[in-house]
Amino acid sequence: MLRHLMYKIKSTGPITVAEYMKEVLTNPAKGYYVCRDMLGEKGDFITSPEISQIFGELLGIWFISEWIATGKSVAFQLVELGPGRGTLMGDILRVFSQLGSVLKNCDISVHLVEMSQKLSEVQAVTLTEEKVPLERDAGAPVYMKGVTKSGVPVSWYRDLQDVPKGYSFYLAHEFFDVLPVHKFQKTPQGWREVLIDIEPQVSDKLRFVLAPCATPAEAFIQHDETRDHVEVCPDAGVVIQELSQRIALTGGAVLIADYGHDGTKTDTFRGFCGHKLHDVLTAPGTADLTADVDFSYLRRMAQGKVASLGPINQHTFLQNMGIDVRLKVLLGKSDEPSTRQQLLQGYDMLMNPKKMGERFNFFALLPHQRLHGGRHHMNECQSKPSTSPVAGFSELAWR
Ligand code: SAH
Repeated sequence: MLRHLMYKIKSTGPITVAEYMKEVLTNPAKGYYVCRDMLGEKGDFITSPEISQIFGELLGIWFISEWIATGKSVAFQLVELGPGRGTLMGDILRVFSQLGSVLKNCDISVHLVEMSQKLSEVQAVTLTEEKVPLERDAGAPVYMKGVTKSGVPVSWYRDLQDVPKGYSFYLAHEFFDVLPVHKFQKTPQGWREVLIDIEPQVSDKLRFVLAPCATPAEAFIQHDETRDHVEVCPDAGVVIQELSQRIALTGGAVLIADYGHDGTKTDTFRGFCGHKLHDVLTAPGTADLTADVDFSYLRRMAQGKVASLGPINQHTFLQNMGIDVRLKVLLGKSDEPSTRQQLLQGYDMLMNPKKMGERFNFFALLPHQRLHGGRHHMNECQSKPSTSPVAGFSELAWR
């Protein structure tokens, strides 16, 4: 990867941080996400669904709650962006099975947007246990199809654009933070983009430099920006615009969970390897690269087509969703000390403000009618519009 990047820089000049992130993470031959399973204790980082089953269960309840609040459509698609090992979707589908009597006449299908061949194979094993052979067509927009353990059809796509535009609930957990960002530094001459160049004195080493003049991505910075360093993620904007259009057209909801801020942080570009911080320019391709999600930018990119809720921190969201009650139920069912300890440790990791409780945030996009009521003709499957509180985002909903 380093040789490839050096060659690229030598032939065309310094590259943007966004180009660097994109190459390092998703280069079709050697990208970090393309070639390996980096999740879990033995990998480079661990995510909430990998820590505790309760996380996915509560998200499953969130989708059912929205499905009920929006009139119990006869069918919906559950779409996940960047499903990792498929653990989160597996936990959600288990809740759907357990609440089969509630969802009994609803036709559900699962749609996974995943560019990594390696991870899509892991997801297929998690979700289908290969009970029914998978259909594969590497060249098609739907590159894999199968049926989950509980009999739900599941399809894999590389791009959100290829997912059918039906009534859908969308989920993105730790997806937006891996999308490439451009970085800008305020200088006396105006905004200058941070680029990556070769260190002149040392062979095989990269360094940050500032572009000598303005670059096109500067258009993404707000005119009244007060920070002196900003990160902008045009790819996130494209995804949010697509999601907003879909929700405005057909109804449904988008739930995004990630670490991030509301337009306040500056330099958040980081590398992680073996659960430790890793210099972003060293040994590219061996570590995860991420940047905090700017939720204020996501809200702006929705362009008023849909309403947004949040960001609200993970501690509050999960508390509102009833995590304490769920923990109590699971503890009550288990006498095994190791299981009990695992449940309590998982709860602490998710909820402790010093761990994931305050660093992670939830953010939702919903049709305007969902929050403000009124007449709507978004979907023939939908009836009985509701303005009941949205679960997780308010205490009232849980009570
Ligand atoms: N949601 C999972 C995994 C997070 S890691 C969890 O929380 O455990 C990021 C995921 O996004 C991986 O599945 C990765 O392969 C996928 N991904 C990264 N860039 C992508 C892109 N441009 N398009 C689709 N998927 C992508």
